[in-house]
Amino acid sequence: MGIDLHCHSTHSDGSLSPADLIRLALTNQATMLSITDHDTVSAYRDLPSEIGLHLVPGVEFSSAWRNVDVHVVGLNIDPYSRDLALICGEQAERRLRRAEKIAKKLFAKKLIGSIDGALEGVRKIAKGSTIGRPHFARYLVEIGSCSDTGAAFKSYLSAGKIGDVKDEWPHMCEVVGWIKAAGGIPVLAHPAKYKVSHLKLVSMIDDFKSFGGRAIEVTSGYQSPDKTKLLADICARLNLSASCGSDFHSLEKRWFQLGKTQPLPVGCKPVWEEWS
Ligand code: AMP
Ligand code: MN
Ligand code: MN
Ligand code: MN
Repeated sequence: MGIDLHCHSTHSDGSLSPADLIRLALTNQATMLSITDHDTVSAYRDLPSEIGLHLVPGVEFSSAWRNVDVHVVGLNIDPYSRDLALICGEQAERRLRRAEKIAKKLFAKKLIGSIDGALEGVRKIAKGSTIGRPHFARYLVEIGSCSDTGAAFKSYLSAGKIGDVKDEWPHMCEVVGWIKAAGGIPVLAHPAKYKVSHLKLVSMIDDFKSFGGRAIEVTSGYQSPDKTKLLADICARLNLSASCGSDFHSLEKRWFQLGKTQPLPVGCKPVWEEWS
């Protein structure tokens, strides 16, 4: 469809710079792109002078809803908002505190040699970007505790495993408020990825709407047609807009093509109508 409203750069856990992402999106014939790094908008201070497509300023915040780590994308935000800069600074501090907790848990299981050494190693890997579990995954591979990053997630870092520390995140309601205050549209990220029952997912989306959420990602990355239909139905029933994004992080995952998302089902109200 040539519209991709969710991807990551080197400013969080992606492997391409903002300029390389834009270049790849253009090669893939995208006309609209949003770079939505985890808890930071610093990519928008690191753009090439020529862009050549409609770049929609965005962000992906981590938040908490009940016991679930829920991601909320903010689209068409003001990336130069001072309040947003302060909020991103606070999220970075939360990520640092969380990294200490993750390191303590991994140390208790003898997966790392020392807490300080691991924090130093993770910071080196992150190179100034927002620190997250993918950086821990790479560290565990670097020191030989895991064979590859997929195995590190599977055994220690994915939802419910010891390194899945989520008690730092602000409530989903608060995060939706930040996005609205920055002039943006709050979008529930990858609804099909949360490990919850159908009933709980509907409650999550209901709550998201009551907090001021405006859209959900009806298509996200590679997703089965059944899931897309289910999300399109919820979206129509709750009168929400529909977004689409690859959640592209790197070229390693060849089936996640930047800028080449699955089309939105007929009848969905596209989220970009909210600002165009
Ligand atoms: P964090 O921001 O620290 O909560 O880490 C979440 C990020 O980890 C996601 O945005 C993905 O990039 C990555 N991730 C989550 N689950 C997995 C998994 N099972 N395998 C590989 N990467 C994952
Ligand atoms: Mn990520
Ligand atoms: Mn996410
Ligand atoms: Mn993402």
